[in-house]
Amino acid sequence: MYRRGPAPSGAEGIAAKQRATVKVPCTFCRGSGKDPFGVMSALSACPVCAGRGVTEVRAPNVRCAHCRGTGAIKRFRCTVCGGTGCLPAPENPTLVCPHCWGSGDDRSEPAMACLACHGRGHIQAQAANAEKEEYSG
Ligand SMILES: [Zn+2]
Ligand SMILES: [Zn+2]
Ligand SMILES: [Zn+2]
Repeated sequence: MYRRGPAPSGAEGIAAKQRATVKVPCTFCRGSGKDPFGVMSALSACPVCAGRGVTEVRAPNVRCAHCRGTGAIKRFRCTVCGGTGCLPAPENPTLVCPHCWGSGDDRSEPAMACLACHGRGHIQAQAANAEKEEYSG
């Protein structure tokens, strides 16, 4: 037996349950590990995955509305998802954001994230009721 020490596999199992993540190919650089836009240099490492070509994201997750799952807004990493192209799946019931109609974009400045849903394209069902009056008219 070579497995010794105070780290039984049971403890790891609990930690994994609380914060489940999956490794996916980096959407921003498409797994190349290089900055896709060469902002600093064509050889600089991808800012999202730090050159690893893979990113660790929460599971389950949903596609980021603001960047359409690409991880990029124009030449910059999406501020909503951090460039991973996906977001942790909401735990509570959600509605399509009435402010951006689910696009996650600010109406007047599409490169900016919608302030009402923080770029997610959806809001919590409870919040929708609370904010209904604010956005009517
Ligand atoms: Zn990358
Ligand atoms: Zn995004
Ligand atoms: Zn919105």
